[in-house]
Amino acid sequence: MADGKNFIHEIIDEELKEGGRCYGQKVHTRFPPEPNGYLHIGHAKALEIDFGTAELYGGLCNLRMDDTNPTKEDEEFVDAIKEDIKWLGHDWDDRFFYASDYFEQMYGYAIELIEKGLAYVCELTPEQMKEMRGDTQTPAQSPYRDRPVEESLDLFKRMRAGEFEDGKMTLRAKIDLASGNFNMRDPVIYRINRLPHHRQGTKWVIYPMYDFAHPIEDAIEGITHSLCSLEFEAHRPLYNWVVENISIECKPRQIEFARLGITNTVLSKRKLRNLIESGYVDGWDDPRMPTLCGLRRRGYTPAAIRAFHERNGVSKVNSLVDYAFLEYCLREDLNKTAKRAMAVIHPVKLIIDNYPEGMTEEFTVENNPENPDDGVRTVSFSRELWIETEDFMEEPAKKYFRLFPGNEVRLKSAYIIKCIGCDKDEAGNVTAVHCEYDKESRGGNPADGRKIKSTIHWVDSATCIDAEIRLYDKLFTTEQPDLADCNYLDFINPDSLEIITGAKVEASLADTQPADRFQFLRVGYFCADNKDSVPGHLVFNRAVSLKDSYRPE
Ligand code: ATP
Ligand code: MG
Repeated sequence: MADGKNFIHEIIDEELKEGGRCYGQKVHTRFPPEPNGYLHIGHAKALEIDFGTAELYGGLCNLRMDDTNPTKEDEEFVDAIKEDIKWLGHDWDDRFFYASDYFEQMYGYAIELIEKGLAYVCELTPEQMKEMRGDTQTPAQSPYRDRPVEESLDLFKRMRAGEFEDGKMTLRAKIDLASGNFNMRDPVIYRINRLPHHRQGTKWVIYPMYDFAHPIEDAIEGITHSLCSLEFEAHRPLYNWVVENISIECKPRQIEFARLGITNTVLSKRKLRNLIESGYVDGWDDPRMPTLCGLRRRGYTPAAIRAFHERNGVSKVNSLVDYAFLEYCLREDLNKTAKRAMAVIHPVKLIIDNYPEGMTEEFTVENNPENPDDGVRTVSFSRELWIETEDFMEEPAKKYFRLFPGNEVRLKSAYIIKCIGCDKDEAGNVTAVHCEYDKESRGGNPADGRKIKSTIHWVDSATCIDAEIRLYDKLFTTEQPDLADCNYLDFINPDSLEIITGAKVEASLADTQPADRFQFLRVGYFCADNKDSVPGHLVFNRAVSLKDSYRPE
């Protein structure tokens, strides 16, 4: 929307008006990740919505670890989640919470529901419960539904005390066995599970179900708007039922938005973990991963990710966004912010036969023509340079205007040169290209104004440094690798990483720091690897190519 408002904001605007549900209140949202993996680009959408909405209204957004599930949760993930959110530029101040800290209160509300006759202990096994859940024509059943309140109270307390085996009993909300919404057919709200919890240890052997726990977490924290993805839409009546039937003052409102999907990748922590465990990628921060730490390592900026989400907008219809659009947003940001440099990825020697041996010149070039404030640097030039292998063809193909015997090109910011031949080894591979330079063309402009069709980049072989270059491609070969009836692992792109050692980069990059970003002229945008690159051993990840396959409408 033009004013930056989406349908959620329109709802909030109404509620803030005099007489509205939130009149006179501060908008309060929360971001509730489950700490069982690293955040990905889909979570970033939710983050932008949760934190962004709070920011828009001068409200607050809490960060809450949704750790009610005792399995696979880990402090490593908690720290990583915090780091990623900070990196995106959001701040929860002192409002960092763990849902598991509310277990005692949740238990209390469960007791309240039992006492009100709104919950009962059910002894159906999971299989029996499934059998008796009914269908659209037939209501569900439970022979335990009408057991006396005292009996349920006693059993529930004994469930907590650990008297019963896992799966033996559940606590169910007593709502409507005939409801057209199956989530309302007396949903299970507590189950017995002896798995230890990452923070509570073995204190609890019963755990609340998400649909019961989440509204309570929100209400305890005074959340006004519980913004979540679309799959929770059919759970909203249950969310409302919980907050309406327990004695808690705050009655948050759940509003759902569409989940983000992106082509040629998967966005599910379980699947991402599987890629790591099966050895297809190096870890959560592998630059091919759609995780925030992976994107960061690849060279993505917070601004590019925010722009991506802003432009995609927020709607009620799930959509699949072209990966190329994410790249487009990065390219746009890096075009403004990344310093330019010259790097030769597949080098071949260029010898300027008429350039005096031992002579060196320096050229002053702009660091970023898009941003004059970025200043200038000098690049050295001498008789032997490196150029890209593909910038020379002994026998030029049709419409090839770069170096071939007899042809002239411009060496970027330096001189016009004319190719006069090449050296080859026994196998016929070109080992050096020979040329002569036009002394009168210093800076790259011919004195007589003649037209030079091509400009190529180069580095000075006397001063350049070696670098490792990592070229990344899509992780999957198909747009939707995780459609219901496919196995996403069948579509892994075997060529998603190409490592090139012995690339040559200009001397000014010698003290490149991890995570520094550059546009390598004619080659692409690169980011010094934040783990493996150190001055003395530079490693650059290709963040995105220069060529744009995406055209916005
Ligand atoms: P995953 O399937 O990747 O494990 P999840 O929904 O289980 O995702 P949570 O940690 O529970 O992961 O998610 C935290 C918040 O992020 C939730 O509010 C969820 O709705 C939201 N979210 C997760 N994935 C996406 C997505 N692809 N698009 C938009 N929001 C998402
Ligand atoms: Mg989840």
